[in-house]
Amino acid sequence: MIDLSHLRGKTVAVLGLGKSGLASVKALIKSGATVWAWDDNADSRHQLDDLSVTPVNLVECDWNQPDMLVISPGIPSTFPTPHPAAEKARRAGKPIICDVELLCTTAAHVPMLAITGTNGKSTTTALTAHIIAQSGIKTQVGGNLGYPVLGFDALDTDDCYVLELSSYQLDLIADAAFDASALLNITPDHLDRHGGMPGYIGAKRNIFARQKGPKWAIISIDDEPCAQMATELAREGGHRMVEISVNGPAPHGVYVDGHWLVDDLDGHKNPVLDLATVSHMPGRHNWQNIAFAYALCRARAVAPANILAGVMSFPGLAHRQEQIGTIDDIVFVNDSKATNAEATAKALSAYDNIYWILGGKPKEGGIDGLEPWYGRIKKAFLIGSATDDFAAKLDGDLPYEKCGTLEIATARALDCARADKAGHTNDENAPLTPIILLSPACASFDQFKSFEARGDAFRTLFGTLSSQSPGLESL
Ligand code: ADP
Repeated sequence: MIDLSHLRGKTVAVLGLGKSGLASVKALIKSGATVWAWDDNADSRHQLDDLSVTPVNLVECDWNQPDMLVISPGIPSTFPTPHPAAEKARRAGKPIICDVELLCTTAAHVPMLAITGTNGKSTTTALTAHIIAQSGIKTQVGGNLGYPVLGFDALDTDDCYVLELSSYQLDLIADAAFDASALLNITPDHLDRHGGMPGYIGAKRNIFARQKGPKWAIISIDDEPCAQMATELAREGGHRMVEISVNGPAPHGVYVDGHWLVDDLDGHKNPVLDLATVSHMPGRHNWQNIAFAYALCRARAVAPANILAGVMSFPGLAHRQEQIGTIDDIVFVNDSKATNAEATAKALSAYDNIYWILGGKPKEGGIDGLEPWYGRIKKAFLIGSATDDFAAKLDGDLPYEKCGTLEIATARALDCARADKAGHTNDENAPLTPIILLSPACASFDQFKSFEARGDAFRTLFGTLSSQSPGLESL
């Protein structure tokens, strides 16, 4: 747990008692601060009983007393409408921050790598932390991904914190400055929470604020908002700029040339990794994640050879193009996290010979925009409440089956892939390895509790099918 003893004797208000809020309450109590904690949900407030903390209604309290408000990033403090407690804190002139700010101001001596972007944050964060840990550096990873930061172990100057940061968290830091900051990409997202695109871009930009001297600003130049920000940051100067591109040269940066990752950080244009050989991270979007992880690890002085070894041994993140195994040389890929067409497009672009399981609770726009990838798909297997809409959309363009449940869809996809393979025995023109891809382009809530539950169900079905298969084989 992080020691916040500089707050001993202070009164700190904590709003929102999810994972990060509770970790904040615990760290603050242990450090000797007086904690006023609140959550609008009575069940969440009951969690305070075990900590012997009496809830304080932060909407009705005297705001002259608390020294600051630590707010859960999920609770609006500005747009679209601020929570009334945040409004009162602001009127009383109290700082409104999140737990990341407390970590950074307390543990400023520990090297910190911070990662943000509209897409790819979790993958890049997990990959970076994996490489750093594999190379023998003590590390803790969390933030928006997984673990709340004030629950981290205390680390030292030789160690490293790796932080995934959302735009909401970046809006709630004031003094934090990271040793290396990475901005992967920007496309419109969460605009209601930032009052529009300029607010969203401004929040992302905060990851580079206050960086001085040798601190690394690692930024994509592949989309317009990032490229523009890169130009502005370079003009301002003050930190080490590292540009990243998967579309061609980025002088003194890290970039992809053909399918080679090129390290030009020292101006030597070294081709360091044939990305086509990293079969567990397919697709150009994953190449972007690898390029960023590479630069972040170089910023933490990890030797290139160790970085490459770490990329090759990365087990991947569950539910994101996760290769869960093979049956009869047919690969099963769990991309349950793809809850919209944009995310599914990334997976479809990464494979060929796809048996595609899709459907669930559809999002606005459904599967519009995925037509360019139809040529890679052998057949679609439809599940959930989107079935009729998606069937109407696919009609005439792609063969499909209405399966209803994930269980039926998975079994049918395997039957079809096996039958197609059997038709090509000893055939030199046999198609590439068949991929059974769960990439639903839909929310899961019509049939599952969460995208994680949907992906876990797929993995269980794979286990059952593979135990029934004579030639059992796993990745
Ligand atoms: P985040 O944490 O930002 O939501 P994840 O790493 O969890 O991102 O990936 C979620 C999905 O986003 C993946 O399944 C993939 O479809 C897509 N994705 C991953 N990396 C990128 C990237 N660099 N650019 C665009 N899309 C990506």
